[in-house]
Amino acid sequence: HLLQHRSKGFAKSHSVVNGAATETSSKNGVAVQPQRFTFSPEPTIEEIRRMQAEFTDERDWNQFHQPRNLLLAMVGEVGEVSELFQWRGEVADGLPDWTEAEREQLAHELSDVFIYLVELAEKCRVDLPQAVLRKMALNRLKYPASKVHGSAKKYTEYKD
Ligand SMILES: [Mg+2]
Repeated sequence: HLLQHRSKGFAKSHSVVNGAATETSSKNGVAVQPQRFTFSPEPTIEEIRRMQAEFTDERDWNQFHQPRNLLLAMVGEVGEVSELFQWRGEVADGLPDWTEAEREQLAHELSDVFIYLVELAEKCRVDLPQAVLRKMALNRLKYPASKVHGSAKKYTEYKD
């Protein structure tokens, strides 16, 4: 405990993963809610779309990248993510028992899913960042925090 940085009664430990910082704290030896993990601000989704479009153009692969093919490719990559979690039971936040090599493999496969998702949205002319805002607004209406706090029920199970 004493080797950790102390300020105002809080002991903090920092780690940096891929440029994004995580932090956990304890006060008087009692764990407090760790600060949320955050992403790096860049690249933006539009920058990722553009980088993947350049990658595809340079290889003359647009002839293969129709929406249905991109969807199937994305689902295949979801399967590759699933393989990493298969047969190991439930896993805690932060994957404490995973090796660095396993974490990097997961980062690769999640990226494959995301890259195909972004290209699928582009080819379907869905402006993904704005669509996410609209859908989150709908989700907030469907699941008012005051009504569903701490409950995993589907929205159809709630009564007004
Ligand atoms: Mg893959």
